[in-house]
Amino acid sequence: MSALRSQLLSEFDWVGHGFGTRDDGYWTPQARTAALHQVHGAGVVRVDAPGHHGDGDALIAQAVNLWLEIRTADCVPLLLVDPVRRAVAAVHAGWRGTATWIAGLTVDAMRREFHSEPGELYAAIGPCIGSCCFEVGDEVAAQFPGYTINNYTRPHVDLVSANVSQLTAAGVRSERIDSLGLCTVCEPARFHSFRRDRGDGRMVAAVAIHC
Ligand SMILES: [Zn+2]
Repeated sequence: MSALRSQLLSEFDWVGHGFGTRDDGYWTPQARTAALHQVHGAGVVRVDAPGHHGDGDALIAQAVNLWLEIRTADCVPLLLVDPVRRAVAAVHAGWRGTATWIAGLTVDAMRREFHSEPGELYAAIGPCIGSCCFEVGDEVAAQFPGYTINNYTRPHVDLVSANVSQLTAAGVRSERIDSLGLCTVCEPARFHSFRRDRGDGRMVAAVAIHC
């Protein structure tokens, strides 16, 4: 298993987590995994049991031994840990999800459901399409006014920075946000990329609370 790990989240010995590479496949134990039908929306779903939980793009849980799984191939995979309330979240934030503020909405949902304090949360952002490769049309660029880079022929958008800003705006401390800084498009040997391959290969990012 070559799933990548965040140094920051690895501090918590009661948390399991990883950002799978293209070699890892569906690496979580399926009988203990909760997943969604991802629709590039803003739906945050609280789960307490394994299985499929309908449409949505973020999972939150306090349940023990339950892997929260999201699948990406360029979209931003984001994992959250609340060490005080012992809660976790997994977020799928593509450009549409980022535009609908899903990272911020997930923090709000953790606050509402688990009484999480945003200032106590830790976050990790895995491999995703980097601003180096995320060339967009003007309609998409217009949705990310602060995160568009214009020194290319066409505008590029920085989805990682947009998600980091959502987290900090929601109250997460910037020093508690870890970004792996890896671009899925730039590294074909390690990562699936929908933009590069147009295929159905996906990578699994997941987080769980161990007992
Ligand atoms: Zn790139």
